[in-house]
Amino acid sequence: MSNCIFCQIINGDIPSKKVFENEHVLAFLDISQITKGHTLIIPKIHNENIYDLSPEAARNIFEVVPQLANAIKAEFNPVGMNIITNTGEAAGQTVFHYHMHLIPRYGSGDGFG
Ligand code: 5GP
Ligand code: ZN
Repeated sequence: MSNCIFCQIINGDIPSKKVFENEHVLAFLDISQITKGHTLIIPKIHNENIYDLSPEAARNIFEVVPQLANAIKAEFNPVGMNIITNTGEAAGQTVFHYHMHLIPRYGSGDGFG
């Protein structure tokens, strides 16, 4: 979708700091780092949110999440990690291209939660 920010990131019209990429998914640093290493993973196919995700698209995301979480853990050395998806405006979704947040946690005082 041409007016979708994340589709524009996928096609390179908007720059991003890539963390991981394969044929189906892209992971990149969130522009507004809730904590250091805050990363988003998105499917390369546009789907508004999890309600629209096909089982295959869901598999493509979840298949790489353990590897991605371990890479973030190795790079930033957090003590925990929140892995969350906001679904719908009322739940805090602001970009309507499915994405999962990986938010490294550094203990009390890290500014999140
Ligand atoms: P949501 O609120 O929909 O769960 O999460 C959307 C996320 O996308 C937010 O954390 C926001 O900071 C991030 N975001 C919005 N626009 C951009 C952008 O242009 N580049 C990057 N890297 N992240 C973005
Ligand atoms: Zn999109």
